[in-house]
Amino acid sequence: MMSTPAVRGRVTIAGAGPGQLEHLTLATLRAIHEADVILYDALIDDSIIAEFPTRAEQLFVGKRCGNHAYTQTMIIAAMISHAMQGKHVVRLKGGDPAIFAHLTSELEALRELQIEVRILPGVTAMLTAAACLKTPLTARKTNRHIWVTDGHSPDLATHAAAMAVFPGTLVFYMGAGRAAQIAQLLCAAGMRTDMPAALVENAGNSDAVTSVATVAAFRNGELARRTAGPGILMVGSAIAGESNTDDLGAAKHVFAAEL
Ligand code: SAH
Repeated sequence: MMSTPAVRGRVTIAGAGPGQLEHLTLATLRAIHEADVILYDALIDDSIIAEFPTRAEQLFVGKRCGNHAYTQTMIIAAMISHAMQGKHVVRLKGGDPAIFAHLTSELEALRELQIEVRILPGVTAMLTAAACLKTPLTARKTNRHIWVTDGHSPDLATHAAAMAVFPGTLVFYMGAGRAAQIAQLLCAAGMRTDMPAALVENAGNSDAVTSVATVAAFRNGELARRTAGPGILMVGSAIAGESNTDDLGAAKHVFAAEL
């Protein structure tokens, strides 16, 4: 007896960026339009949800608004079962899927079952926050590195000494509620207390709020989160536009000469 080959669908794991539709890539928008099933997280804006095709099955699998119905295991199971029925599943995540977004477990499960998977990047919160602050995250002479970390990571203290002297920008995802503790950790490890620090909440959205000061101001609680939305803490001299470059002086010189 001939066995019928299994009709395997495919999964697209796509980043939705930080919020509104305009931050979504065209590739992700196309995937959404072609989807049979869309599994989407919290923080996916209504302007993006409005693009979901009405024929597509839509599953909100986020953990906000009192909805804790979907565990990570259940999300993976739903993704797999729809793909095994030959459907195109779009798994839509806030920001970029490779940054603090449970990508490892989802990829493992899909690879194990040899389900075709594609990943589409999205604009991650760090980049939106930098744009919101109108600041670079790197500076040619003083800030050649970016250290991206989880503000809740249990081993932050282990790295505090290295962070305190890190010649670049420290980026703490999930750090909004712990800004004071993180700043305290950095100051105690010897970071200069006037090191610029910024907390950006709801970056990329109309209700974005930025708090820019020094690491000491965050440590002292003079600044703290102001909204219930997601926030990202960034620490480093590039944030305040501090730099040792001679570019500005040279440009002013040229400009003055041209006048
Ligand atoms: N994959 C996401 C990150 C998910 S982890 C990305 O690439 O952006 C969730 C954390 O991301 C939040 O705790 C917060 O630190 C950050 N974040 C997500 N959206 C944000 C936003 N609009 N503004 C500021 N921080 C945000």
